[in-house]
Amino acid sequence: MTELRDLLARTTEHALTYLDGASDRPVRRQVSAGELVAALGGPVPERPSDPAEVVDELARAVDPGLVVTNAGRYFGFVEGGVVPASLAADWLTSVWDQNPAFSALSPAATAAEEVCRGWLCELLSLPGTASAGFTSGAQLANLTGLAAGRHHVLRAAGWDVEADGLFGAPAVTVLAGQERHATVDRALRFLGFGTRSITPVPVDDQGRMRPDELERALGRGPAIVCAQAGNVNTGAADPLRRIGELTRAHDTWLHVDGAFGLWAAAVPELAHLTDGAELADSWAVDGHKWLNVPYDCGIVLCAHPDSHRAAMGLSAAYLARGGGRDGSDWSPESSRRARVFAVWAALRSLGRSGVAEMVRTCCAHARRCAELLASYEGITVLNDVVLNQVLIRVGDDDARTRAVAEAVQVEGATWLGTTTWRGSTAIRISVSDHATTHEHIDEAVRAVLRAARG
Ligand SMILES: *Cc1c(COP(=O)(O)O)cnc(C)c1O
Repeated sequence: MTELRDLLARTTEHALTYLDGASDRPVRRQVSAGELVAALGGPVPERPSDPAEVVDELARAVDPGLVVTNAGRYFGFVEGGVVPASLAADWLTSVWDQNPAFSALSPAATAAEEVCRGWLCELLSLPGTASAGFTSGAQLANLTGLAAGRHHVLRAAGWDVEADGLFGAPAVTVLAGQERHATVDRALRFLGFGTRSITPVPVDDQGRMRPDELERALGRGPAIVCAQAGNVNTGAADPLRRIGELTRAHDTWLHVDGAFGLWAAAVPELAHLTDGAELADSWAVDGHKWLNVPYDCGIVLCAHPDSHRAAMGLSAAYLARGGGRDGSDWSPESSRRARVFAVWAALRSLGRSGVAEMVRTCCAHARRCAELLASYEGITVLNDVVLNQVLIRVGDDDARTRAVAEAVQVEGATWLGTTTWRGSTAIRISVSDHATTHEHIDEAVRAVLRAARG
């Protein structure tokens, strides 16, 4: 036990060294992928090694390839940071090594899932009876919500898709906004619909699905609509109330991909953005983005627990059922990590007001960043900054905009990515980390200006 104690103490030192140095590291890779492979690689180790040396070697080998996405200065993609309590809980999750697949395997993990299910419904203003699955991210949360929808609409049409598959099944219309996330297409691929079966619904200038267009596209027969809260470029949410009223009137399943945007519902002054979300049938939301828990965490919630479980449930004669919640009934995985402990710790430590404050502060930083940048000639803010996403363009020029992003990345004080928005190259700034401060925003703005003038 002393050996293990020493190993974990040493590991704590590695963790603290990394965290202490995080604010000074360049936010980009410092070596090539080949160098990293060489540092980690070599022939298959023939003999055992001392665990302490292994941990030292791992920390040393990967260090130049670690990108500090969680120290407040990383604004690429939509990358959350890590709140302290969830980091600590994530460590314990590995120590405990619980498997939430069955309550008999881990009554603790499945109980935490049940508690967090209720807390999340309340925080996001969703029906308190919704079922929840804890997934690796929003990709699998989208898959699960859409699978529940597939079951639900086909059962209503007299078809048992779990038993009979899709060959010969009644046709299902699938409608999704033109600006849907790529993971929606992939989820639909996995579910046997094929991406060509998606009817894209036109969107407005912020990427929001147009309800008048949806109404025109909705017909009779089994149908699934996939809406979005939080466009990865603009941060905009589809008009969920109008969409929800339409899907209800047409007996259609509505899934909301709210990977990060659904968190607006937890902030009183932002909740108008997701107004009507409760009319949907299923929702996907990330834990590892805006809730700032470590990676490997998404949540699917479903207003129809029977359909959710019919689509996902696992059964085999040897699988003892303890009577409590079995995690494998609610997500596509069987054995998996008890990722819920990090969610529980984040929610317990932040509380309702802390979650709202974290989301609110990120949005205020995004607004301020947009205002500062817009005040310079030659820089245009392309989106209405309603949430945490800012799109800018330099000199109304694709090549210049890309060059500015690249110069900022090379400098390494901050990291901004690029995207294409309505046919033009744009720099995308996402503020999703609780560690971001005013100074980090100033630093990012200065970096863009240096690059733009450079
Ligand atoms: C990030 C994101 C996803 C995918 O989430 P993962 O957690 O990466 O699986 C889906 N939809 C939207 C809108 C996103 O922003």
